[in-house]
Amino acid sequence: MPGAASAFVDILGPDRVLTAPEDTAAFCGDWSGRFRGSTPAVLRPGTTEEVAAVVAACRRLGIALTLQGGNTGLVGGSVPLGGEVVLCLRGLDHVGPVDELTGQVTAAAGATLSAVHRAAAAAGWAYGVDFASRDRATVGGTVATNAGGLRVLRHGDTRAQLLGVEAVLGDGTVVSHLGGLGKDNTGYHLPSLLCGSEGTLAIVTAARLRLVPATPHRVTALLGFDAVEPAVVAAASLRRHVRTLDAAELMVAAGVDLVCRVRGRPPPTARPHTAFLLVEAADAADPSADLAAGIAALAGVAEVVEGVAADLWAYREDHAAAVNTLGPPHKLDVTLPADRLATFLEEVPRVVTALAPDARTWMWGHAADGNVHVNVTGVDPDDDRVDDAVLRLVAGLGGSISAEHGIGTAKRRWLHLNRSQSEIDAFRAIKRALDPDGILNPNVLLPPPRPPSNLLRGTPPPGPEGGRTSS
Ligand SMILES: Cc1cc2nc3c(=O)[nH]c(=O)nc-3n(C[C@H](O)[C@H](O)[C@H](O)COP(=O)(O)OP(=O)(O)OC[C@H]3O[C@@H](n4cnc5c(N)ncnc54)[C@H](O)[C@@H]3O)c2cc1C
Repeated sequence: MPGAASAFVDILGPDRVLTAPEDTAAFCGDWSGRFRGSTPAVLRPGTTEEVAAVVAACRRLGIALTLQGGNTGLVGGSVPLGGEVVLCLRGLDHVGPVDELTGQVTAAAGATLSAVHRAAAAAGWAYGVDFASRDRATVGGTVATNAGGLRVLRHGDTRAQLLGVEAVLGDGTVVSHLGGLGKDNTGYHLPSLLCGSEGTLAIVTAARLRLVPATPHRVTALLGFDAVEPAVVAAASLRRHVRTLDAAELMVAAGVDLVCRVRGRPPPTARPHTAFLLVEAADAADPSADLAAGIAALAGVAEVVEGVAADLWAYREDHAAAVNTLGPPHKLDVTLPADRLATFLEEVPRVVTALAPDARTWMWGHAADGNVHVNVTGVDPDDDRVDDAVLRLVAGLGGSISAEHGIGTAKRRWLHLNRSQSEIDAFRAIKRALDPDGILNPNVLLPPPRPPSNLLRGTPPPGPEGGRTSS
């Protein structure tokens, strides 16, 4: 390490190379507490040139990197599970001026989602990607994971906002295409390839983002249902009939009760319900009539609560933190075909308790996208029998084992449930082309064809089954 450390200090200066365990500890675990690794060093570059110089040094020295933005990822991808050096991108945090003519902005990788929202709002625009970890999640992390969130039903996922990227490939080359032309058919679309590649092909250093018109008038309502199925059907109906629909979030009784208990909040409805839809409409003018007409046409709504938006949203957005208070959860973020979502929601608790009688299942999600966040508590972090059963159930119902969080480390042993061998081989060929030495995120997405070389590794490399640790 000393030789490598001095190479990094030459590039970044001593203050941006952290090696003391008390300084690096915060970079070695994930938000949920399920994944913990170790690192000999955390590097904090501030420019694209410094990132490229770090990659060149790593290639020369045979050092693998774990890339980290806000460290809010939920599949262990940002954790140095094999003792990699951590490359923290938070120092690249500039948000450029909003192009008011086209509604675009260039943001550096370390800028938070909230910083992009603020810049867009100040110029009379909005950014279409939003979710609860907005104050910490970074542009680079959202691009790397193709993050979704609360507004996908209206604006699409991160890939749909991405007009260009600047990135440092695994071979140290800087690629940059940030012009932001709305139509640009000049070859392979690298933004699409890098978006969702989870830091396995390149380090994203900046992104050109499409903004959407601001919709300052919002109305929010909470709908209570006495069964899950009518809530799922209602989300689809609202999507079809409410032009201004901006969000339709599903919750079930157990999760709402937990949030109330943990946060000391009163129940959100006058009487208990099995399922809830949090719906929001937004427009340039008051969308109340549009949403009210859509709700009036629904079957099976037992109760409608219209309240202060922030209060209603807290019931939904506090789910993840409330579940975390019960110990590190197994987080399985999945998508189901619309007509199988209700079946899945009913089936999962049965599948889980058959394997782990003391486990609890918590589910919520982005109903209109068919996206459910299945969280299981009361299971040892290293015991993945529940993960296996739930992911096989998902695949058997024609769903995706990762809706929006990515494969990371947590799910790579199940990639074959959704991807054929020839697709995985093609992924590997792309990885070899852009990251020939396999130095970027070696624990993420693909089982490694061979253990990555890493002179700095403090712990043995993960096996082909995934390399999860819980320490
Ligand atoms: C409370 C809570 C709510 C959440 N809600 C949602 C949600 O609704 N929708 C959703 O999609 N996600 C959600 N997430 C997950 C998480 O916030 C997203 O995955 C987010 O995109 C991660 O961003 P990050 O900057 O924290 O990335 P990190 O966690 O630091 O990294 C995530 C992955 O991206 C890689 N990476 C990071 N930066 C770069 C870069 N510059 N270049 C290349 N690779 C990089 C990392 O190596 C890792 O593999 C939630 C998380 C929390 C804690």
